Amino acid sequence: MEIFDVAIVGGGPAGSSCAAFCARAGLRTVVLDREKFPREKVCGDCLNPSCWPVLEHLDLAQRVRDLSHSKLDLVEFVAIGGRKVIVDLPPGDNCELSVKRSLFDALLLKRAQELGAHVREETTVAKLICNHGPVARLALDAPQGRGYNNGWKIETASSENFSARILVGADGRNSTVARLCNLLPRPARERVALQAHIRLPRNFGRRIVLQFLPEGYSGQAPVNETELNLCLVGMPPTISRLRRWAERHFEITSAQPWRTITPLTRSPIPCAHENLFFIGDAARVVEPFTGEGIYYAMRSGELAAIAISKIMRGEDQQAALCEFTCACAEMYRGRLWINRLARMAVLWPRVGSFFVRAAQIQPAMLHLFTGKIVSGEL
Ligand SMILES: Cc1cc2nc3c(=O)[nH]c(=O)nc-3n(C[C@H](O)[C@H](O)[C@H](O)COP(=O)(O)OP(=O)(O)OC[C@H]3O[C@@H](n4cnc5c(N)ncnc54)[C@H](O)[C@@H]3O)c2cc1C
Repeated sequence: MEIFDVAIVGGGPAGSSCAAFCARAGLRTVVLDREKFPREKVCGDCLNPSCWPVLEHLDLAQRVRDLSHSKLDLVEFVAIGGRKVIVDLPPGDNCELSVKRSLFDALLLKRAQELGAHVREETTVAKLICNHGPVARLALDAPQGRGYNNGWKIETASSENFSARILVGADGRNSTVARLCNLLPRPARERVALQAHIRLPRNFGRRIVLQFLPEGYSGQAPVNETELNLCLVGMPPTISRLRRWAERHFEITSAQPWRTITPLTRSPIPCAHENLFFIGDAARVVEPFTGEGIYYAMRSGELAAIAISKIMRGEDQQAALCEFTCACAEMYRGRLWINRLARMAVLWPRVGSFFVRAAQIQPAMLHLFTGKIVSGEL
């Protein structure tokens, strides 16, 4: 059995960033992912400008710009019935851009490897053995004076086992790590998202389209010179109607393959436990409409790596866990209300459409909303 300081389950933006920062800090780090990279992922493929500082810290900003991508100039909100409001996006190098997740995630994972992290693809985590007793939230809940000598045994579907002092759940919204630790919230009756890359319609332009429809909403963005990322979000009973709308609107056939994911909303999981961290979607799922999930994933990966490095250096573990929890709360502060607003708008598309029509009369409202999301200010 291989022994590591840190085992990270999930090689998406959260897990790869965390692994890259941990490896750079000299920690023996392994990333386990069930997929073979490059792989696609249900996502709008849009990189919020807030991502750039984290990418700079990883010396990756230019390499991301070198990937096949599309620079995005504006967001077009479309109400039911077709009325539109347009909001400009920030220009320049640190603009909003879209890049296929197959390219972006593979680059991040490669960077983690370059910095010394071990990567095991096609490795599905199936069982966890917590050597130090039941999972305790924050060290505050743990018996005082307990050491951190034990850690985790991680068993995979292929019977390859790993041992690590610290475990990081970076395995997305349906986190296996959270489920195996009895921390995953009960699934609610939730919306479902479909996503496909289709041929880019002629003269689509460099815009994101967020379109309210009676059954839900659709997000559209070009990802390169030839392809459009098309997302549909609705409730299970109406999603097939949305798909038929997309087939008509974009002249695609019913044979078009779609990727799918659910849930789009669920309760957050506390991010810091004894010898256990949750980052990215595994910790908290944000409304896709705001296009911020990749930023939260990468930044929480960076913050977890800072805390893990401190613990591994022998610094006060309670302090490190508290700092991590506070830093994560700070990352979301001032932005979650937008998420709630966005969720309301997309749960009731007629309310969303009302906002779009109101914004035609009072554009400042929408500028405030989008400015918060895409300014790149942290
Ligand atoms: C419809 C939709 C549109 C979106 N659009 C955007 C957007 O435009 N911009 C944006 O910033 N965000 C967007 N998001 C959110 C974004 O996709 C997520 O927030 C982001 O992918 C989270 O990254 P992550 O690393 O936490 O998890 P993920 O990217 O989900 O990665 C988790 C990884 O864990 C692996 N894994 C899972 N289980 C196991 C297991 N048992 N063993 C081993 N490996 C495992 C998976 O294979 C996967 O590679 C959107 C989301 C949806 C649903």
